[in-house]
Amino acid sequence: MATIVLQPGETFEHYHSAPSQTIHVRGDIEFSVDGSARLMRPRESISVPGNTKHSVRNLGARTAEVTCVGTGPEKHHIG
Ligand SMILES: [Zn+2]
Repeated sequence: MATIVLQPGETFEHYHSAPSQTIHVRGDIEFSVDGSARLMRPRESISVPGNTKHSVRNLGARTAEVTCVGTGPEKHHIG
């Protein structure tokens, strides 16, 4: 499990070798999976297939936070 904290305007892109769920914790977040972007609602979670790049971008004026929960053996890759 990984918690990702983003400052306003910050973007974080990464992928996992295992499928995962990304859970919105707080803030205004744009979430992209494989290049297609959507807004995440509070408390929403989105499934991400393994080895698929996903990025979170903080659109708000305050710190935002999401959690990635792996559903298999987990390994994080940045970039
Ligand atoms: Zn993730």
